Amino acid sequence: MTDHINLFESVNRQFDEAADILGFTPDVREVLKTPYREVSVALPIQMDDGTLKVFHGFRVQHNGVRGPQKGGIRFHPEVELDEVRALASLMTWKTAVVNIPFGGAKGGINCDPATMSKRELETLTRRYISKISMVLGPNRDIPAPDVNTNAQTMAWVMDEYGRKNGYQPACVTGKPLELGGSQGREAATGKGVAIITREACGAIGLPLKGARVILQGFGNVGSYTAKFLVEMGAKIVAVADHAGGVRNAGGLDVAALMAYVKQNKGSVNGFAGGEAFDKDTIFAQDCDILIPAALGGVLNKETAHGVKAKLIVEGANAPTSPIADHIFKEKGITVIPDILANAGGVTVSYFEWVQNLQQFFWEEAEVFEKEEKIMVQSFHDVHAKVKKHACSFRAGAFVLALERVRKANELRGW
Ligand code: NAD
Repeated sequence: MTDHINLFESVNRQFDEAADILGFTPDVREVLKTPYREVSVALPIQMDDGTLKVFHGFRVQHNGVRGPQKGGIRFHPEVELDEVRALASLMTWKTAVVNIPFGGAKGGINCDPATMSKRELETLTRRYISKISMVLGPNRDIPAPDVNTNAQTMAWVMDEYGRKNGYQPACVTGKPLELGGSQGREAATGKGVAIITREACGAIGLPLKGARVILQGFGNVGSYTAKFLVEMGAKIVAVADHAGGVRNAGGLDVAALMAYVKQNKGSVNGFAGGEAFDKDTIFAQDCDILIPAALGGVLNKETAHGVKAKLIVEGANAPTSPIADHIFKEKGITVIPDILANAGGVTVSYFEWVQNLQQFFWEEAEVFEKEEKIMVQSFHDVHAKVKKHACSFRAGAFVLALERVRKANELRGW
């Protein structure tokens, strides 16, 4: 087994493990793996210094049999078509695991937002949406934020889409509250990761109260996951991000760390409430629970052997390579996959879409109560598959998703 496969191939291996359990024939596998539509656009932009630059943007719609396709837009220098395909396909399986009426999509622009001005980013976002708007829409494909895009980006998406199509806030989620965003959306993914961690602890007999948790990433997902886990009685003993690491065996003060990160260019580096450590050793830190909440592919053949956790909960998308998954199995470490663990975000995006279609808004407590119900139900649906097929949680989640998508496809007609 090798780590040198692309992300789409890696997701398709996960698909095949579940398809083997279900005895899917090669033709059905091909239909369900193949993206429905792939759009690739050139985006010429005038930069602030007057020069012209051509960026490349993508939108992959993987599968829409269960509802409009749904997925984020990523701005990153490493965005390429195969990665977008992989992330679009993960969205198909994720929306099926939590049983919300969406399919899967993903978009991205190959760019480095850290080097761009706000005007350049707005122009780029508008050009991208204007070029792909014919395949978007509240009943077709609904974008959302992902790495390096945020509520402001979504406001530009809504405005640009609206130029051709009129006021349609349900065309995009993750919007600012002032433009029809949902209460609770910002914390939703982290809240869902914490709920799934709690349920997983119950399932494997690991007490969450007093459990030692380490995280890679303390952005949107990592920080809210930490906040809710502390409320549930766990201790956050180490956190690392792009710039540094901080640990405290007695438990970090998460509220103080969140406030510090806001003042410190988005990093935990230098936080006084703990001891600094080399961020690259995060996965080998002593703990009971490990939560990757930053990048894809970080748990691989180099890092997996050092992991001391009993439980890994994937806050990030695709953090574990196939070989690392194999190593964790050998070591008896339970891994809760991304398509279950971080599905709280798309679940509350679904609530935002529903509220926008009805133009009737819910309070935060109602959003969280509905999210909790879906996450707990989904965990137990996946766990039932794990027990039935004596398989990993990843395979169990894929089995559940594949059954739902296949059935919908059969009913509609291939
Ligand atoms: P974010 O930009 O808010 O935070 C990213 C975090 O990762 C930051 O703490 C950053 O310092 C850290 N990081 C970046 N590069 C790093 C590196 N080289 N080493 C260590 N840490 C590094 O992003 P986010 O929204 O929290 O997303 C994190 C992950 O969760 C991504 O994989 C994303 O696709 C996934 N995800 C996000 C959501 C959501 O609703 N935001 C939903 C589902 C999945």
